[in-house]
Amino acid sequence: MSAKLIDGKLISASVRQQVTDDTAAFTAETGVTPHLAAVLVGDDPASQVYVRNKERACGKCGLKSTLHRLSDQTTQQQLMDLVAELNADESVHGILVQLPLPKHLDSTPVLDSIRPSKDVDGFHPENVGLMLQGRPRFLPCTPHGVMKMLEHENIDTAGKHAVVIGRSDIVGKPMAGLLVQKGADATVTICHSRTTDIAAVIRQADIVVAAVGIPEFVKGDMIKPGAVAIDVGINRVNDKLVGDVEFSAAAERASAITPVPGGVGPMTIAMLLRNTLEAAKQSL
Ligand code: NAD
Repeated sequence: MSAKLIDGKLISASVRQQVTDDTAAFTAETGVTPHLAAVLVGDDPASQVYVRNKERACGKCGLKSTLHRLSDQTTQQQLMDLVAELNADESVHGILVQLPLPKHLDSTPVLDSIRPSKDVDGFHPENVGLMLQGRPRFLPCTPHGVMKMLEHENIDTAGKHAVVIGRSDIVGKPMAGLLVQKGADATVTICHSRTTDIAAVIRQADIVVAAVGIPEFVKGDMIKPGAVAIDVGINRVNDKLVGDVEFSAAAERASAITPVPGGVGPMTIAMLLRNTLEAAKQSL
């Protein structure tokens, strides 16, 4: 492997340490403990792990977290009622509804109903709009985590061709939105399931961000020699976690690459903690 490994565990630990210090100072000054309320509907095993990790991370950084568990029989109205309750609860600063929701529930009205000032995932249309206009309230956690990794590694994005693969509202679109902002200044191409000759597009990239959800979708030979490969994908294959990039082959050509696990995943949680602290600060 010739690529430098971008260690998400290490970088996220430094972000979490900063959040811990800032939270201690904030709580000492105001008497307020930032509080994240997580909502988990149903018993999807991966979601349970994600929520548990988020709760644990909150505790370690001095943030309060509460978990609201709802059964997979929960109705849309019951879920919306819980969000309304959390919106009204002044002791709650951040609300997170763990996705995906069970199939009978529609996530759009649920996410839209979260008060934007408590939307620490950064998914609410108001927060997406503010982010795109370059005056963010909360940056969406996963794309923000990627930007933080690039910054930490001194990878300059200005004038670089960044190819984002995936156009989801959670990762692909906001990722492209951050890369194109003033200050980041990348030239961005977004690829998706209808892109023709995607390999040819990826081969032009100085920075590849893969958020597809298909194991090893980006083959090593699609990586331009010296390019940076950021792998957002988390896929379970035979009880093993695999990214969207064919890691070992890509690592032979890239100048820097993120592993899965231990890459973008831990950054997402760290940025959620930062947003929760920020929400508490903004609430005063
Ligand atoms: P999604 O399913 O909502 O979106 C996938 C995107 O990939 C779609 O926009 C689609 O157009 C594109 N796509 C699908 N097939 C394609 C193909 N053949 N060619 C080109 N593009 C194609 O998924 P998502 O929520 O954006 O998540 C993507 C991946 O990232 C998943 O593996 C998910 O588990 C992972 N993820 C990781 C983190 C993290 O913290 N590391 C956070 C969120 C999501």
